[in-house]
Amino acid sequence: MNGKGSKVYSVLHGVCPRCQQGKVFKFAPYKKLDFAQMNDHCTVCEQAFEPEPDFYQGAMFVSYALSTGLLLVVGAIMIMYLDLGNLLTFSTMGVLAVGVLPIIFRLSRLIWLNFFVRYQPLRPDFAHDGDVLSTEGKE
Ligand SMILES: [Zn+2]
Repeated sequence: MNGKGSKVYSVLHGVCPRCQQGKVFKFAPYKKLDFAQMNDHCTVCEQAFEPEPDFYQGAMFVSYALSTGLLLVVGAIMIMYLDLGNLLTFSTMGVLAVGVLPIIFRLSRLIWLNFFVRYQPLRPDFAHDGDVLSTEGKE
């Protein structure tokens, strides 16, 4: 279900939904402050990572759902089992919301991109640098 070829693989590994080899984001999520920097195209298959202007506006709905779900679960666990008081509970949830922002941001964009781009394994004659190998003189 979440092996190579599935959308779950593409989302969890942060790779191109089409070839599942090229990285979508330039850096690891917490490596640089600008966690949102994406590659324009897949370095392997040339899939555009922003197929049209403002493509990722719809990813805001995914981001909203992910962050709301996370905070509801964490908040419910803290209120029902830890009993830390309102101030500590809600300030912890605020810190958590800011702390997981890079992860939520990336997951929502990856999920949104995977809604619209299908997995297409590379043909064997497709070079890893993005060029199709010439088949001339290879008989
Ligand atoms: Zn690709």
